[in-house]
Amino acid sequence: MRLECGDIPYYLEVPEGLRLKLSGLKAMLQLPDGLKQYSNIIAGCVSEYTGATVVVQGDSVFGACDLHYQELLQFNDIDAILHVGHTPYPDYLGDRVNVNPKGRVKVMFIQARFKGLPNEQTLGALLNVIRARGLTRVALATTVQYEPAYSKVLEFLRRNGVETVTFRGPAEYYEEGQVIGCDYSFVPRRVDGFVIVSSGEFHALGLYLATLKPVIQLDVTRDSVKDLTGAGERLYASRLFRVSQAMDASRWGVIVGTKTGQNRPWVVSALENVMKRRGVSYIEIYAGLLDRLTLANFDSDWYQVFVVTSCPRLPIDDFNDYQKPVLTPGEAFMALMRTLSPYRFPW
Ligand code: SF4
Repeated sequence: MRLECGDIPYYLEVPEGLRLKLSGLKAMLQLPDGLKQYSNIIAGCVSEYTGATVVVQGDSVFGACDLHYQELLQFNDIDAILHVGHTPYPDYLGDRVNVNPKGRVKVMFIQARFKGLPNEQTLGALLNVIRARGLTRVALATTVQYEPAYSKVLEFLRRNGVETVTFRGPAEYYEEGQVIGCDYSFVPRRVDGFVIVSSGEFHALGLYLATLKPVIQLDVTRDSVKDLTGAGERLYASRLFRVSQAMDASRWGVIVGTKTGQNRPWVVSALENVMKRRGVSYIEIYAGLLDRLTLANFDSDWYQVFVVTSCPRLPIDDFNDYQKPVLTPGEAFMALMRTLSPYRFPW
């Protein structure tokens, strides 16, 4: 059901039965950082609609991998989490995604859809870039908040004769065309390239690394079009350099995630099995939020390379220029197997 909250540039899509499930309860509203500026409006709106008392989580919430169950254990009066802006995190990627405190806390996902749509000039620019790149068959991707713009772009491309392939990851976790920063496993490969309807470069560059095919972005918030293939190629080259730097390392730090969806024991054990076979020493470091200060605090001469098994975007987006190689799991396997091809991203 569509819920309009004041004059913010988003509308909410709330699940059926939300009002019944929440009436009279106390709920913790989790917003992505970009939506926190509207926290008073969204909290008031949801509270009025459901009859629940709504409080707001102030910590950063990076995705549906980050539901903060641990913190909620401290508070016996929180009955539900209202997680806004993401679809459920896939169970096949995280080990404890759905382990909430004894089932006490309900988790409900609410979508925030950006209302803005690309104008005709932007759509025309998109068509020009697709033709200039010589792409005849493209797959169309998006992130969940831009579904309205995605539908408009899909209709436009097909109307203008561009063969446009749609796709969908497992239905319990994904909407049509949706990707997240650590899962591109279901994206079609038999295309000339991709168009992604998104904002910022995060998901677009991830799409490049996962497929190594041209990626053209329609940025909905800026109403602009960018061919990000060159940026993807440069990022790819820098990642190969990092992998090559790590090939001879014999002392590794293995970052193990503690956030709800970022604990991945099978990734950790698969990596450590290869390390043991190669005679490589390692130390496991458990961390929730991993930023440069946290890493620098425990970094020492002993560590020659780190692999991050929590969020595989941290090595790329936050540590690409760190003084030592900080690798994704896929890159760590490459380094341990002493190969630069094929490039594995992210796992
Ligand atoms: S990319 Fe990182 S923050 Fe985003 S969903 Fe995946 S693990 Fe979570």
